[in-house]
Amino acid sequence: MTVVGQLNPSPRLLLGPGPSDAHPRVLSAMSTPLLGHLDPQFITIMNETQELLRQAYLTKNPLTFPVSATGMAGMEACLVNLIEPGDKVVVCYAGYFSSRMIDVAGRTGAEVTVLERPWGTVFDLQQIRETLQRVRPKVLGIVHAETSTGTLQPMEELGNLCHEFDCLLLVDAVTSLGCTELKVDEWGIDAIYSCSQKGLSCPPGLSPVSFSDRATQVIKARKSKVQSWYLDLTSVMQYWGGERTYHHTAPITMVYAIREGLRLVLEEGLEARWKRHWNNHKALKAGLTAMGLPYTAQEGHQLPQLNAVRIPEGVDDLTVRKQMLAQFGIEIGGGLGDFKGKVWRIGMMGHNSWPKNVLLVLSALEHCLRTAGVLVAPGCGVAAAEAVYAQLA
Ligand SMILES: *Cc1c(COP(=O)(O)O)cnc(C)c1O
Repeated sequence: MTVVGQLNPSPRLLLGPGPSDAHPRVLSAMSTPLLGHLDPQFITIMNETQELLRQAYLTKNPLTFPVSATGMAGMEACLVNLIEPGDKVVVCYAGYFSSRMIDVAGRTGAEVTVLERPWGTVFDLQQIRETLQRVRPKVLGIVHAETSTGTLQPMEELGNLCHEFDCLLLVDAVTSLGCTELKVDEWGIDAIYSCSQKGLSCPPGLSPVSFSDRATQVIKARKSKVQSWYLDLTSVMQYWGGERTYHHTAPITMVYAIREGLRLVLEEGLEARWKRHWNNHKALKAGLTAMGLPYTAQEGHQLPQLNAVRIPEGVDDLTVRKQMLAQFGIEIGGGLGDFKGKVWRIGMMGHNSWPKNVLLVLSALEHCLRTAGVLVAPGCGVAAAEAVYAQLA
């Protein structure tokens, strides 16, 4: 028999595309003793969590709650509930996560039209208008913060445009909630999903979703059963609202976690938090650029919380990432899909987005690049970041 030792992982700083480090207050909330999932005190905690989520999403949507699984389950919950076989869906594709949306929508039996753009670029309203006019879909799906390319899609006018064509707007906000501007009601978003482990600085395990009244009506008026039993909102709704009838056992500890994570977001203030992410991004970008690492995303649309940069010619992706981890305890991400081996992804999400981490990752990366034979002027990344901070001060 093998003896399995006590759990003792090495200290890490998680600066990849997620999970990001959990806030100490979140971890301590998670050691709170359990309540039963139908205990009146737990119902109060559920209500509070939903209210905090509405505030973080800037929505009044009654149907707002965390799905009991990671971000992908939120994507799946939105698609399986809104779509019935034969419905038309348009997916805006410009990165890895939108390709998953195409896959999931296809599995629901939807007739999927793909509006394609090169990875790292954003969609403009005119293109989307033409597609809506031609296809007349029931749902248009788009990724707000594309984590594979580090691109931030402008969202302001999109809701109005979709509604002109009687189409529901579905948004992947897995990497945007808790990091950058996100206004569900003002932007006319009908269905949205996110996660707990990126901008909210909680462990992975919950996917906050929210549905507009328009989307809720569509779900209630379905003719066919939702393919997924677990994600069928027509019954989950009864647990997270309505009659509180048992559907599945809520992950009590994760609900404690997200409640604390959301309290932290709102204590800081949404505007202040968004600004903090922008400031640290500006400094990090100056540093990475000075070190000769160009961004993959289109200029003007780069994502503050996820910095995707091209790996210099001749440098081995994995060697550098392994050295970052072994020598500095820092995790950064590699590329996905078309960007595998070509791109590094440096996350500055939620509780991790602070100057100390910007300066640390820049100096560690400089060291590893030098080991890999790249000629980097000593201290150039840190100096460029410092100059940005000096200007911001
Ligand atoms: C991380 C991510 C997901 C998947 O979320 P999981 O929590 O890993 O299931 C989906 N979309 C985007 C844009 C992401 O960054």
